[in-house]
Amino acid sequence: MNRVDKLNAIFKIYEDEIGKYNFYCNEGCSTCCTGNVILTSLECENLLKIDIDIDSLKKNLGSERFHPKLTTNMIADHMKNGLDLPEENIDSSWGKCVFLEKDLCSVYEKRPFGCRCMVSSVNCKDSDYAETDPYILTLNNVILQYIEHLDHEGFTGNILDMVIFKSDLTERFIKNRKMSILMVPFEHREKIGPVLSSLSKLFKGNLF
Ligand code: SF4
Ligand code: SF4
Repeated sequence: MNRVDKLNAIFKIYEDEIGKYNFYCNEGCSTCCTGNVILTSLECENLLKIDIDIDSLKKNLGSERFHPKLTTNMIADHMKNGLDLPEENIDSSWGKCVFLEKDLCSVYEKRPFGCRCMVSSVNCKDSDYAETDPYILTLNNVILQYIEHLDHEGFTGNILDMVIFKSDLTERFIKNRKMSILMVPFEHREKIGPVLSSLSKLFKGNLF
């Protein structure tokens, strides 16, 4: 299995797990589709299997958008070492994702995990925020950690920059790293066990 196949297998493990929950999310609901989505270079490689007109996206390069300071595995390492997390500059009003067309995602089949994990049990449009079971947040973090681990030689960055520059302009991106600890709070250890077991089989137990 190549790395892109493994990435899609991780998506499937995630989708099987969240399929057990009910969310408000439905086709055409797109308040969460902002230009702040981040992804790994491997997810970008997967996304670029769709024929995208990169030149036409370049007109959006002046837009404000999220550029993270830390990857998920860096956050896990900071927490493990008792370090403070830097403040991130992110605002949902900065604008819509460049792949949103008439409230639908034009790259839906290949969208990155940052989009897949945006789920809410309430309509974000009405409440102004997403509401999610704390276990789903743990699950999201774990999947983000595995995806970064799988792409530990790659980078993390904003979706627009990554699609346009790929990993050529590395100063725009943060270097990924392997995971050294999983962000699973004690109360979710038992519940997430079957998911970890599926992920571990996919990585053949070869993680740290
Ligand atoms: S996360 Fe919120 S805005 Fe996004 S699809 Fe779900 S309910 Fe709609
Ligand atoms: S890539 Fe698709 S799902 Fe993700 S934010 Fe953009 S439009 Fe929404």
